[in-house]
Amino acid sequence: MTEPSPDKFDVLVIGGGITGCGVARDAAMRGLSVCLVERDDFASGTSGRSSRLIHGGIRYLEHGQLHLVYESIRERQALLRIAPHLVKPLAFTWPIYRGARVGKLKLSAGLLLYELMAGGRSLKHSTLDAAQTLEREPRLEREGLTGGAVYYDACTDDARLAIANAVAARQLGASLMSHTRVTEIIRQRGGDKAVGVLTRSQHSGEMREIHARVIVNATGVWANAFNGDERLQRARGSKGAHVGVPRERVGNRDAVTLISNVDGRVMFCLPAGPQAIIGTTDTWTDESPETVQASSADVDYLLRSANAYFPEAQLTSDDVISAWAGIRPLASAGSSNPSAVSREHSIATDRSGVINVTGGKLTTYRSMATEIVDRVQDALGQPKKVAATDSVELPGADRPEKIARLQNDDSSLSPPLAEGLPYTGAHLVYGVQKELAQTLSDLLIRRVHLAFETRDHGKSVAPRAADIVAPLLGWNDVTKSARVRDFEEDIARMFAIGSR
Ligand SMILES: Cc1cc2nc3c(=O)[nH]c(=O)nc-3n(C[C@H](O)[C@H](O)[C@H](O)COP(=O)(O)OP(=O)(O)OC[C@H]3O[C@@H](n4cnc5c(N)ncnc54)[C@H](O)[C@@H]3O)c2cc1C
Repeated sequence: MTEPSPDKFDVLVIGGGITGCGVARDAAMRGLSVCLVERDDFASGTSGRSSRLIHGGIRYLEHGQLHLVYESIRERQALLRIAPHLVKPLAFTWPIYRGARVGKLKLSAGLLLYELMAGGRSLKHSTLDAAQTLEREPRLEREGLTGGAVYYDACTDDARLAIANAVAARQLGASLMSHTRVTEIIRQRGGDKAVGVLTRSQHSGEMREIHARVIVNATGVWANAFNGDERLQRARGSKGAHVGVPRERVGNRDAVTLISNVDGRVMFCLPAGPQAIIGTTDTWTDESPETVQASSADVDYLLRSANAYFPEAQLTSDDVISAWAGIRPLASAGSSNPSAVSREHSIATDRSGVINVTGGKLTTYRSMATEIVDRVQDALGQPKKVAATDSVELPGADRPEKIARLQNDDSSLSPPLAEGLPYTGAHLVYGVQKELAQTLSDLLIRRVHLAFETRDHGKSVAPRAADIVAPLLGWNDVTKSARVRDFEEDIARMFAIGSR
């Protein structure tokens, strides 16, 4: 997607993950002229590979990160308000076993604090005895179960939350360029100041100069590539893997919070339609974010941890429908244990004036964006305006009706793309028309989750999907075949189980 631009934008954002898309929306709402450049698709990086939780982060209480928990809870409430179509309350059962690191008292105290921080605006937790815990989650291990608790957080569609922010920014006049890589930051002749970027289109190879008064580097785990200022903290990556298995094999009804029997880390077994998603791991990595994959050791760890809680499941690698990984860009890298490193973000302006952001969470993107755009207005020498990002609804609430109308108008768009999944040709058409999708990966990985939810990751569906969207995207038979091949390469890169 390449859009016309003024001679010089107020702000140019590099990176269309949740951070960059949130910044673009906030800045456009304040009336700034905005350009957002994304090398691949919106949310194709870490923002499309998260645990899809909008949560206070109960586990951060253990590490004493009260400020982060408070901010996350406040943001969870804001997102439930502005995106009820994308952010939904989710009940978590936390079972407790004899001798557990987090016992009943500690858990109750933590959950009470969690609710106090929400100022009474969240659903109340309840403590459970063993029988009540099993009533909620009958397939849990019974041996040693002493009780548990049920508490509430929220879940989302991570990729579509980022995309909704991009769509909102565009509706407010922002120029969006996806599948376009920033190859270089342009400096003022004879000086250091950043004045624009050089971009290269992924599809046409076209190079372009774009000028801006302020540049924001929101490239997450890629951020170091543009950080030539040794005074600034460098982002360090922690890898997190997930596996999706048939939910009927595990039998979880809601979300279940687990403490892994392997290493004592908090992890989750999450409901995702017909799948249960088990995640996540947390290990330092220097792997490339473009090729990172779940390893067989990651898969083994996740299955062993889940099997200890759901012994009837006896999950093996044959049950794995898909496995994938993302890399957390962490701002502080001092600890040997990545789980103990704060998920707080850091914002720093380098000597060329580029505003760099590292760290943060999907949950806190909106407040992070506010802080970043405050910095942008400082750099522009403007008084700070307030954008109503916490009260104006994100676009897309009418998606179900729009999809039903497409199916009504053209019955060939109604049949499911894959058996047992709710996605149809109309979802793809909607993805192109309303959600900025340009490729089959944009559609089958991020506008719908078909690639995560089928064993062949959408390979058999891709030719039909290409036929459906070809007229909208101007593809002929040659480009159609090329796009199917690109998709096959993308899914092989993302879903293959690696050796390290
Ligand atoms: C396994 C895992 C689970 C997680 N679960 C949760 C969760 O449940 N809840 C939560 O709140 N947080 C969660 N997080 C954290 C959250 O996902 C991240 O903090 C967040 O997605 C980071 O977003 P970002 O926009 O900073 O980075 P990214 O999403 O990685 O975006 C950066 C973008 O920059 C683009 N880019 C890079 N280089 C260039 C270039 N040269 N030109 C143009 N574009 C470029 C990339 O393509 C990418 O799209 C999780 C993280 C991981 C890894």
